[in-house]
Amino acid sequence: PPVLDVAAIRADFPILARQVHGKPLVYLDNAATSQTPRQVIAAFDDYYSRLNANIHRGLHTLADEATAAFEGTRETVRGFLNAGASREIIFTRGTTEAINLVANSWGRANLRPGDEVLISRLEHHSNIVPWQLLAQEIGFTIKVIPVDERGVLDQAAYRALFTERTRLVAVNHVSNAFGTVNPVREMASIAHQHGALILVDGAQATPHQRVDVHDIDADFYAFSGHKVYGPTGVGVLYGKAALLEAMPPWQGGGEMIRTVSFEAGTTFAEIPHKFEAGTPAIAEVVALGKALEWISGVGLDAIGAWEARLLAHATARVSRIDGLRILGTAPDKAGVLSFVVDGAHAQDIGLLIDQLGVAIRTGHHCAQPLLAQFGLDATCRASFAAYNTFEEIDVFAEALQRVIDMVR
Ligand code: PMP
Repeated sequence: PPVLDVAAIRADFPILARQVHGKPLVYLDNAATSQTPRQVIAAFDDYYSRLNANIHRGLHTLADEATAAFEGTRETVRGFLNAGASREIIFTRGTTEAINLVANSWGRANLRPGDEVLISRLEHHSNIVPWQLLAQEIGFTIKVIPVDERGVLDQAAYRALFTERTRLVAVNHVSNAFGTVNPVREMASIAHQHGALILVDGAQATPHQRVDVHDIDADFYAFSGHKVYGPTGVGVLYGKAALLEAMPPWQGGGEMIRTVSFEAGTTFAEIPHKFEAGTPAIAEVVALGKALEWISGVGLDAIGAWEARLLAHATARVSRIDGLRILGTAPDKAGVLSFVVDGAHAQDIGLLIDQLGVAIRTGHHCAQPLLAQFGLDATCRASFAAYNTFEEIDVFAEALQRVIDMVR
């Protein structure tokens, strides 16, 4: 299997050199936000030092060069997802905005009272709430794809949920709360057999594995910059060209029009610009391109293999802790370790372990329906990235044991 030069990777991340409460930082909250390599940080300096201008309409050199950098990134994203055409790539503020775009444009135009949308119980709130808001307005029905005690979607139940009214399946590729990798390719095929579309939330898959939207046959695929070693404030919606072309605009404004007239009405730009109203986060988009180039340079196969080893090591280490229960035991898991401990509240563990320099996440991970099924309102979650090491996992496991001994 491919191997990572972790020391060289760590040298790309200035933040990993800092201390927290006088201890070396051990950053294990990567599923919330990954850290940023200097190549991405440098992209901001370069953009504002050399290129800064508004894009698309300018005739001057800076506007031209900024436009080229922005549109060049669209091509980088196309390659990253193996999409067919760069006009199928729409820049958004993140996964959340990408899903809201689909709900408000495709959903509002296509969903009728009595229609059905299937949403998995593993979803992040961002792939639940936009659909609930729209359902209240339109009167379609949301049906929930159940998960078993391992955190695996029940595929037989999934098949059984389809009726002639099923229009859309909304599912994540990888669960942020438990790390479950969902068989989205098979789920897409089943959705299509029933004449339904599938929207895949790829926020947690894109950092860890190669994604091929063509192979999955996803109708829509969304991800966020800040989870793929890129900046906050930028994300991507991939959509099949034919679908995007047929969809009405969502937000209106500059950039997304062809002509505007009070008398004759307004006509709209072609995709992708139809869905990019207003000045976008230009520097962030360009920096996202650098992040994807950084990932490709390291190699997602190598990253995924390394994180699988980290996960196995972490799982073995914490399993020795008395009264600790791991949530999410799917056979196919990404680098996420969710757990609860008898007699120690997640919040207390998170606060105390921070005192020892270790950053993990505690809470409901924006997945309350999933946690509710397990009778929980919070778990602790350690999540891994390319720059994490076995030594850091050992520091984490020892710190966790100390913290548990303190609170019990
Ligand atoms: N979906 C999943 C699976 C996520 O993990 C997240 C971020 N925690 C989101 C959606 C939302 O992403 P963002 O906040 O970047 O829009």
